Formats: sequence, structure tokens, C-alpha cells
Amino acid sequence: MELFSIAGVRVSALIEREGPQRKTAELFPTADRELAIRHFRDMESFLYQPASDRIYNTYQSFLLRTPGRTVLIDTCVGEDKARPPQFAAYPKKPWLDAFAAEGLSFEDIDLVICTHLHVDHVGWNTKLIDGCWQPTFPNAKYIFGRVECEYWEAKVNQGYDLASRIWTDSCLPLIRSGRAELAEMDADLGGGLNLRPAPGHTPGMFCVELACDGQRRIMFAADVLHHPIQCREPSWSTCFCEDPVQAAVTRRALLEEIADTDVIIVPEHVPFPTAGRIETDGERFRYRFPFPWWRS
Ligand SMILES: [Zn+2]
Repeated sequence: MELFSIAGVRVSALIEREGPQRKTAELFPTADRELAIRHFRDMESFLYQPASDRIYNTYQSFLLRTPGRTVLIDTCVGEDKARPPQFAAYPKKPWLDAFAAEGLSFEDIDLVICTHLHVDHVGWNTKLIDGCWQPTFPNAKYIFGRVECEYWEAKVNQGYDLASRIWTDSCLPLIRSGRAELAEMDADLGGGLNLRPAPGHTPGMFCVELACDGQRRIMFAADVLHHPIQCREPSWSTCFCEDPVQAAVTRRALLEEIADTDVIIVPEHVPFPTAGRIETDGERFRYRFPFPWWRS
């Protein structure tokens, strides 16, 4: 599903799952629920379900078609992977149908970038073929963060079960076969694509920044921002953040940097239409969904 096109770059979302997910206090352990409800009243109805107190989050990949390359950012949960029930139960067809609807085959992807190595960001990296984990995108180079890989390797060595499964079935086969490049968190990937360090949610997470025409910027913000309510309360990190304090520092710094500019922010888990622009509002921020100013 196309999100927007700008300066010769087309950005689409491949949605694996969407809808109301976790309750406010579960997703944001430090949230003040009454304050959250007041904020939600001012926000779009597709962001929060009052009757169930559940927050809408989407699990998706981003597809970038630039003049020179076809790039996939993050690869959701995937299929055939031994995962806890809440992940294993995901239907696989929506993501595959979304990919097919873009008129591409897996062979057409030139570059796969994983912003971090959580379960919902690496799954379609590999497919089970003849009992082996093979690259889903046979012609693609895969980019993993070096710091991120070292962090998860250490977790694996400490015996963490889910980390081991993710590492073994979705990352290691690509590293061993030489398909993956371990990049620094601020790497220049060429063609206007740059990585931006965004530690906190995980130690090695990065954003992916694309400069269009050397001018307009798109910021694929990974999990720096799970939901627009974190613009109202930037200190609220999620239950999935490895270092919630650092995650909040990273979030506020990014919001301050891009607020009141025409940078397009594209966070991984914000529901369709996903892409937005940040505005300042005193010490807080507001998330603005698209309107014609960026149509080209
Ligand atoms: Zn995530």
C-alpha cells in the first residue's frame, strides 16, 4: 500500500498485522492512564480504542523504490519460525499479498535493512527451503548493525531462548553465507541513504534516513516512536525497550531535531497512513498525518 511518493521515491507499507493491541499501561509501564486518556481524546480515532483501552499498533515493512534501488526496511515476523504463540499465530498471507500487490518478486529486492533484531523486524529475512534457512530475497544484500549483532550474540551465549531462535533462523544464515554486512550505526549506504544511531529500544538500533534530491528528508524511525502519544509524553518508553531511559533520550532528541521541519517521519508501528510530520507544542510535540504539502 503506497504511503507517499516524493522526488522520484515511492514508499509503500507491507502490513503483516494491524489493529488494537496492548492496553495503555501494558505498552507504556510508566504512563499515567488518566493523562493518556486525555491525550487520546485529541488524537485520531484509528490510534486508540476507548472501550477496550487498547492501543492500535501495526506490524509492517517499508518498501522504498528509489531511482537506483529497491529497498526493504525491516521484515516483520515471517513464517515457519518457532516463536511464542502471540507471534506464531500471525497469519502470513497479508504480508505476502501486500508484497505481491506491489508488482515485485523477491528477486527484485536489492537491499534489506534491519533497524534492529527484534522478533518483528527480521522474520522474512529467511525462508525454510528443503529444511534449511535460505535468504528470502536471493539477490539482496542484508544490512545488520554491528553493535546490535554483538548484543544479541551475547544474549544467545547467555542462553536466552527467543534471542537464540531469532539469531539462528533469521540472522546467522545470512551472516555465514556472506549475504549480510555488519554496518556501523551511522553508516553511509550510498544513494542518499544513511543510518542514524538510535540506541535505547535496543542498544544497536538505528533509524534509516533518505535524502531525496539531496534536500527533502525521510526518517524511517524504527521503534524510536511506537505511537503518536509519545509525542505528547516523550518520556514514556515501551515495555519492549531494553533501556527505557536511553530510549526516551533518543526519542526526545529526534523529535526536537525534526520538529517544525518538512522531514517526513515513518515509524514502524504507527497505523496507516503512518507517515507524519512533527510539530512542537511547548515542551511536548504533536504528530501530524499527511496532508497535501508533501504530495508530488
Ligand atoms: Zn518493533
